[in-house]
Amino acid sequence: MEDSIFAQFARGELRPDKVRFENDEMLAFDDINPAAPVHILIIPKEPIASVAELTEAQAGIVSRMVYRAKLLAEELGIAESGYRVSFNVGKDGGQIVPYLHLHLMGGSHSWRDRQ
Ligand code: 5GP
Repeated sequence: MEDSIFAQFARGELRPDKVRFENDEMLAFDDINPAAPVHILIIPKEPIASVAELTEAQAGIVSRMVYRAKLLAEELGIAESGYRVSFNVGKDGGQIVPYLHLHLMGGSHSWRDRQ
């Protein structure tokens, strides 16, 4: 698997500017170039390149990342107005960073048409 800045975040070699959540298995932090008023990325600490590379044994972490997105949305006050949870997969899916990451985006209506 190709190295990336997110892999460095996951290994603790670099620290994202704004960490929103961390435990033994995942890290959540603000996107450096937000596409919405709230734009958080959640990555697993176990290296996984993308949804396309996911094994059945790794599927549990993905459901817990989605659950964490729901909790963060509640904490940040965007749960009632709604939000997007998404994974970009591969070149045609718009994935630029080759390390599994969940996008949590919300906070207004105006950004959606740009995605
Ligand atoms: P992708 O297109 O791969 O699904 O999304 C990658 C996301 O990572 C983009 O929204 C981009 O702004 C964000 N990003 C890229 N490099 C960094 C970084 O060094 N720090 C943070 N916090 N976000 C990054």
